[in-house]
Amino acid sequence: MFKKLQGRELPALLAGLILSAAIFWFSLSQPPEVATNIAFVTTIIIGLLAHSCRLVVSFTFLSILLILSGAIIAPGDTGDLLATTNNMLALFIMASVGGTCYLALNEQDRLNQQLREAAERDPLTRLYNRRVMMKQLGINLAQAVRYRHPLAVMILDVDNFKNVNDEYGHMVGDEILRVLSNICSRAVREADILCRYGGEEFAILCPHTDRAGALVAAERIRRDIADQHIIVGKDSHRITVSIGVATLSPEHGTEETLLKIADDGLYEAKRKGRNQVVCLQPTEKASLAG
Ligand code: GH3
Ligand code: MG
Ligand code: MG
Repeated sequence: MFKKLQGRELPALLAGLILSAAIFWFSLSQPPEVATNIAFVTTIIIGLLAHSCRLVVSFTFLSILLILSGAIIAPGDTGDLLATTNNMLALFIMASVGGTCYLALNEQDRLNQQLREAAERDPLTRLYNRRVMMKQLGINLAQAVRYRHPLAVMILDVDNFKNVNDEYGHMVGDEILRVLSNICSRAVREADILCRYGGEEFAILCPHTDRAGALVAAERIRRDIADQHIIVGKDSHRITVSIGVATLSPEHGTEETLLKIADDGLYEAKRKGRNQVVCLQPTEKASLAG
């Protein structure tokens, strides 16, 4: 509720406050037969136009407060019943419009969130999808080159996963992929971006990570997975992964070359017998910072 004002919130807040003050001042000078308080509803609509739940709530309470204050400061001298009816009506309108706007904004936020999730997340593992990964790779690469920070990319592929599917079925395979994604999520740092890169492939983008750091992280992930007994139903599975690592260097300074070198490393790890980490780049050229 008290987070910094964003986007159109500040002008909307100012407009709503000025309008509230103007309506309040005007309503005090009007006879009670004139239902001026109903004009407070426009402040709630300003909150709605600014797409701000907290402004809608604030303006609803403010208008209710001002209507009650007006009733105390200037009680109708001609026809109390009329003044009271007008005020009750205005309070009812504020509460119902404010409540409806609040619910509508909340629902819209929920739907937007669902849409974002569907566009960015893989439905099986809830990890980011490849599209997000590619976008983040572009952003992080530009920053790493600009500020001369290291950057690492890993591609991880489950070993002999086809056999698991063939032997236990796709449902078990799916569950194993979910467990693997959890192990990876726990193993990476908060700043790292983990995604489902393809069928049984995951990619991890590690900002501010040089070759040595990336190799340590990749080895930790590989070991965490290899050490785990993955229980699905009655069966316990031992799964291994191969990992290709690439780090930013003058020769490998684009998205394509970084992914290619990680993919080549992965291929080499498979060729050498699986369940291992390979970074094909020589140590001395490992990163711009190194
Ligand atoms: P390698 O060690 O060479 O990587 O062998 P592999 O069997 O893992 O490789 P291959 O590319 O032959 O097979 C990948 C398998 O991954 C085949 C496919 O059915 C399975 N797979 C891909 N996506 C999914 C998924 O979403 N769910 C399940 N259950 N299996 C998947
Ligand atoms: Mg594969
Ligand atoms: Mg595989």
